[in-house]
Amino acid sequence: MSRTTSLLLIAPILLTACVTPRPAADFPLVDYHVHLKGGLTLDEALEISKKNGVKFGIAQNCGLGFPVTDDAGAMQFIEKLQGRDVYIGMQAEGREWLSLFSMDLIGRFDYVFTDALTFTDDKGRRTRLWMKDEVFVEDKQAFMDMYIDKIVSIISNEPIDIFVNPTFLPECIRDEYDSLWTKERMAKVIDAAVKSGVAIEINATYKIPSKTFIIQAKKAGVKFACGTNNGGKELGNLEYCRRMIKECSLTKKDFFDHRKDRKKRTQRQNQIR
Ligand SMILES: [Zn+2]
Repeated sequence: MSRTTSLLLIAPILLTACVTPRPAADFPLVDYHVHLKGGLTLDEALEISKKNGVKFGIAQNCGLGFPVTDDAGAMQFIEKLQGRDVYIGMQAEGREWLSLFSMDLIGRFDYVFTDALTFTDDKGRRTRLWMKDEVFVEDKQAFMDMYIDKIVSIISNEPIDIFVNPTFLPECIRDEYDSLWTKERMAKVIDAAVKSGVAIEINATYKIPSKTFIIQAKKAGVKFACGTNNGGKELGNLEYCRRMIKECSLTKKDFFDHRKDRKKRTQRQNQIR
């Protein structure tokens, strides 16, 4: 074959390689953090899931002051979703949830997650980080240290599969995300997640955690889970998660799969207790 002929044969291949954008994820994605809120019905959610080619995990908020506060309510939610093409999730709320639900009931969900947005601070004040008047930041550094202690305690002690809304900061200090989330603070959270086998959410709505956090966590062996945490019908299509998958070179094995990871997490947490 002459040099010209081979070049002619190779040229279209090279051209295709250059102009075809690299797919953001060449594996199926799951959105583990979808709520039937703001009028979104199960049928509508299923339609969006099908259209986007993303499997949904639909979660109920369970805890003090939330729609579901006991085993009976949680069971009703599970029965409503059973047999439909979704995973069934429990979003555990506040820190009292463990006293409200039996372990047997918790085990009936496909997976359980929580965040660290609600806690009682070191001065005994009930804090909800998304509510302006329920956030107390007198000293930013002291607040961060206290907040990281809360996160580590939740990840280490609560029987959860995914830690969601990770690294969320209240509005009053959100602009300082990069300086407040130091490498050391990130390491504490990442360490706890690795030890307990808890996955960390990449949240499409809040666009957290940062790329720096994700790269550091990936290196340590953390598993990730995509999640939207929608408040209504505007679900999007995991745009931030897809961008992070591409920019941090995440692959299928970096992602949580409740069908195998849940069992591993339970074993690991039983071992360290
Ligand atoms: Zn949620």
